[in-house]
Amino acid sequence: MSATHRKVIIIGTGPAGYTAALYTSRANLSPLVFEGAQPGGQLTTTTEVENFPGFREGIMGPALMEEMREQVLRFGTEIRPETVLEADLKQRPFRLKTDQGEYTADAVIIATGASAKWLGIGKDKQLSMAGGGVSACATCDGFFFRGKEIAVVGGGDTALEEATYLTKFATKVNLIHRRDHLRASKAMQERAMKNEKIVFHWNRAVEDVVTEEITTPLGDKVEKIKALKLKDTTNGAAHEMPVQGLFVAIGHEPNTQLFKGQLPMDETGYLKVEGGSSRTPIPGVFAAGDVQDHVYRQAITSAGSGCMAAMDAERWLAEQGLSE
Ligand code: NDP
Repeated sequence: MSATHRKVIIIGTGPAGYTAALYTSRANLSPLVFEGAQPGGQLTTTTEVENFPGFREGIMGPALMEEMREQVLRFGTEIRPETVLEADLKQRPFRLKTDQGEYTADAVIIATGASAKWLGIGKDKQLSMAGGGVSACATCDGFFFRGKEIAVVGGGDTALEEATYLTKFATKVNLIHRRDHLRASKAMQERAMKNEKIVFHWNRAVEDVVTEEITTPLGDKVEKIKALKLKDTTNGAAHEMPVQGLFVAIGHEPNTQLFKGQLPMDETGYLKVEGGSSRTPIPGVFAAGDVQDHVYRQAITSAGSGCMAAMDAERWLAEQGLSE
């Protein structure tokens, strides 16, 4: 099977990928965009976005991504519902293999974003995908925990923000942190500590999730969380905490597995780009959005870096005589 060739291929459809597509399509580069496993990216798992300029009343995350999608389609971007499985950036044109085909590209813009981290005990991720009462997104799933006692794991801003938000639904939110100091900002700490529904459990690590089988009203059998097995990180003592829900809020990891050994990354796996640009050390390969930014991680900064990647790619293609 022969590979389909494009001047520009963009991997990812968060704000970075869509903005890169908007600029490259308006520059007549006919970009092809691979949607990936989470079309629309992380914003599709949020509710209201109040800090994206231009929407004075705010806009729902999924609606914002739908607007971006329609906007790029208007300028001739092609979006394919495919996930890139392999990338070979060592030869030119660059080669990409998706779950449906093979492609080559003169320039590649990587906008694969970041994903929530799991505890590494296996069961948490598994239960989150099967409606088992585990989640990494309070705004997406908080509603399901109305009237229940739940736990949030983590000690950063995300954990405290999620815990505070979840008190709208849950009767009690147990905040489990592996140390006795929070990483979160002072303001966020004060807000959470004032909230009577949040109970802090210091020096505790989640060792395992205890489940039970529930039969739904439709007769389906579902494995649901029932308790957490905790370990005291100072003396190793074991504890069990009954909960009906678990929110994992221990940070994010960049989606860079595809590029291991090909592109330089920092110690946590974020792609390194040349300061003030989107250029990776491989000419013709650019990175935008959360995949190369663990500091700002905002929709608007991500969109801005998508614009930079498109302009960098456009200039590079012109310099190589590849833009016609
Ligand atoms: P952080 O990396 O800041 O915090 C992660 C937390 O999870 C830490 O407390 C860490 O513990 C804990 N943790 C990490 N791995 C594990 C593990 N395997 N088991 C148990 N605990 C673990 O991530 P956040 O997502 O909270 O924040 C990311 C960035 O986004 C930060 O810069 C933050 O300020 C920002 N942010 C800002 C918000 C706002 O201003 N409204 C809201 C949300 C995020 P330890 O402390 O021991 O390392």
